Amino acid sequence: MILLLIMAKIIFSVGFSAFIFYDSTCRDLNGFFFGALSLALCIAGIFDIIDFKFLLITLYFSYMLFRPKEEMVYCRRCFKKKIKTKTYCPHCFDFDKKILADELRLLTVFSFDRESVEDNKKS
Ligand SMILES: [Zn+2]
Repeated sequence: MILLLIMAKIIFSVGFSAFIFYDSTCRDLNGFFFGALSLALCIAGIFDIIDFKFLLITLYFSYMLFRPKEEMVYCRRCFKKKIKTKTYCPHCFDFDKKILADELRLLTVFSFDRESVEDNKKS
């Protein structure tokens, strides 16, 4: 019975850490860091250093509260989630040319404005 409980805890830990890893990678955070952190805390929970249910609930809600809240879209190449305004997909590094073009246009508009301001100063 105790063995079964430990097995269930291990399955929950791995599943939860995998979710944290995937979701933080989607949000362009360091997925390995957050995944390893939650796995380490879960291992502490398995050995009853921290109460397991309390740990999972606290981890889940603190992650949900502090993760970057951005609009998510599916990558057109690997069909995993990514932040809508990010130029590249953190899973397959597929550059979205449309977003890149938008950013470049903003950049050129900005530099054009500065040039015209400097020209006005000269004349
Ligand atoms: Zn992708």
